[in-house]
Amino acid sequence: MTARNWRDLLALISGRRQENAVQDLPEGMRDESVDRMEFLLSLRRRGISDAAVLRAIDAVPREKFVLAEFADAAYADQAMPIACGQTISQPYVVAYMTEQLEVQREHRVLEIGTGSGYQAAILSQLAGEVITVERYRTLAETARKALAELGYDNVNVIVGDGLNGVPEHAPYDRIIVTAAAETIPEKLVEELAEGGIMVLPLGEHHGPQRIVKLTRGEDGVTQQELIWVRFVPLLPGQAREL
Ligand code: SAH
Repeated sequence: MTARNWRDLLALISGRRQENAVQDLPEGMRDESVDRMEFLLSLRRRGISDAAVLRAIDAVPREKFVLAEFADAAYADQAMPIACGQTISQPYVVAYMTEQLEVQREHRVLEIGTGSGYQAAILSQLAGEVITVERYRTLAETARKALAELGYDNVNVIVGDGLNGVPEHAPYDRIIVTAAAETIPEKLVEELAEGGIMVLPLGEHHGPQRIVKLTRGEDGVTQQELIWVRFVPLLPGQAREL
């Protein structure tokens, strides 16, 4: 199997010889595009199988959402520091949570914890509209600029406390929280539409946390516990500085 570039490869990753694909490339092609191929392959290998999610990840340049000094490592599967002592999440966890969210084009999605804006960018490729809330003004402004430069104009970045929800646009078909909650934020559950799904990391701050998936059905909310993760804490109130 040969793939001339990472787009070809994406089309081929359902094939059997995917582990060999990168090694098969001619010398001289092991550049950033190869990093991106390996990045997609590693997500595929770790079980991310939703083609729309993989396409969204392929489409969004992660290097535009990391600090300049980390741009070279943008396609490594790791979380990285961003401004205000926060982090851009590990790509595998972004892909996993996005897959669990089951986003459709007609959906309005609320994200709590804009951070770098990367998760919002991925959601913008899948949903009709994305509303994302960040408690640090600096992060919200940087994310807004990165999203605008890439032309992702279906994302609305709001500065505020996401724990209060965003009632003016509620209800939401999907809600994703990208900071760890110690208890399920009830206001957000109230803003979930009938049939809606909410995905969040739940657990002690600075301890192990689990991704939890809540589904609002006719008879109430069901809860599924998924993979173990580590996220920065979900904190009340808009940040006073920065
Ligand atoms: N989704 C982000 C990851 C950000 S890390 C990305 O793709 O880069 C989590 C973010 O949640 C941090 O930026 C933090 O400031 C923010 N946060 C924590 N508590 C919050 C709250 N109550 N309301 C809004 N944002 C919050």
